[in-house]
Amino acid sequence: MEFAIFKILFFLINAASVLACDFHTSKYVSHPHLGPRQLVRRGKRETLDWDYINSADWHTIRPEYATCNTGTHQSPINLQTSQGLSLNHKPDFSGYATQPQVSGTFFNWNFGPAYSLKHEGEDFSTLPAMKFDDETVFLAGWHIHFPSEHLIDGVRSRAEMHLVHVDAAGKPKSVVGVRIESVPNPDARSAFLDQLPENLIHFNDTSEVEGVTINPMSIIDEVDGLKAFWTYQGSLTTPPCSEGLRWFIPKQPLMASEAQVVKLLGSARFSHRVEQTAWLHQVNV
Ligand SMILES: [Zn+2]
Repeated sequence: MEFAIFKILFFLINAASVLACDFHTSKYVSHPHLGPRQLVRRGKRETLDWDYINSADWHTIRPEYATCNTGTHQSPINLQTSQGLSLNHKPDFSGYATQPQVSGTFFNWNFGPAYSLKHEGEDFSTLPAMKFDDETVFLAGWHIHFPSEHLIDGVRSRAEMHLVHVDAAGKPKSVVGVRIESVPNPDARSAFLDQLPENLIHFNDTSEVEGVTINPMSIIDEVDGLKAFWTYQGSLTTPPCSEGLRWFIPKQPLMASEAQVVKLLGSARFSHRVEQTAWLHQVNV
């Protein structure tokens, strides 16, 4: 009998903790498919069942990650200058320009600096819009990988920032992958990076800074307005590696001073997925 009571008590305690754990009001659950956004919720780090050291074997961890191995449009890939640049799917950032100052939460996604734009409830359509083809998508946030995930002619950059765009309901649709390079000239600073908080938050630190304002257009301006770019059909670069995303990789990297890059590296850790074989990606098509 005592055992039965204990079991009931145990059940009630567990039920209460599940109810208390209301992810639905968390600002990150609105991006449930983004991978990186799932890693921090209310200042608490989720325990990951994958890591970057074994990124070629993600599909062996659990069935939900099967696409990481069976997908036909997996990211990241090696892009080649011999392929030329895209004349199709040209992105239009005029929706960024109409919002020169957005507010959001700055944090570290366990691998590097990250930022989530503030929005109302589950409606993402008020966020800065990017248009391509007949689609309008909205900037939900960004995070930085070290070193870059995409390669150009087999070469990686120091880092790569992913500008994650979603539809009005929050489903990921497109990512702009901005490579970050360092320039020896100490005066050649990235104005975008200078907008970030002085403390970039260490990868082990789950603290968050609310109300950080940035000008999203400053990123696009620093990569030459994305006038020259590669584009292809790809996937999330973290489990579950879902496909159906259009990638844009500007030819011009974001140029930061060596001091800025050193500072970024001080907050980060290794976070690129193993290169994927280009297959049905339709690069620039
Ligand atoms: Zn990413």
